[in-house]
Amino acid sequence: MKPLSTCEHCGDVHTIVLQEQRRRNGVVVGYTQCPACQHRAVFSVTTPQIRELQKRIRSVKSQYDKAKRLKKAERLLTEYFNLKERIGLLMQPLVEQANEELNQ
Ligand SMILES: [Zn+2]
Repeated sequence: MKPLSTCEHCGDVHTIVLQEQRRRNGVVVGYTQCPACQHRAVFSVTTPQIRELQKRIRSVKSQYDKAKRLKKAERLLTEYFNLKERIGLLMQPLVEQANEELNQ
């Protein structure tokens, strides 16, 4: 079964269709589009820098899963949350900006 999404704009319920828009400078905007009112909802914007951080966070996560020493696990966990916060801070304003641009 496909996941359903409710449009935050008109309330239409439909299956999620993920769209991707590639822009200059390696920016990729991920969004869903409502088939009823065409409203677009941006859920992610990545830049080469953000994708690099995402790669690192995946590697930290898999190291954490394999870590046997508590000290190492703690260090990796701290790094994981630092990276997560950095990605969030970088992405948030880009998502807001892209949301505005796509719904003009
Ligand atoms: Zn809609």
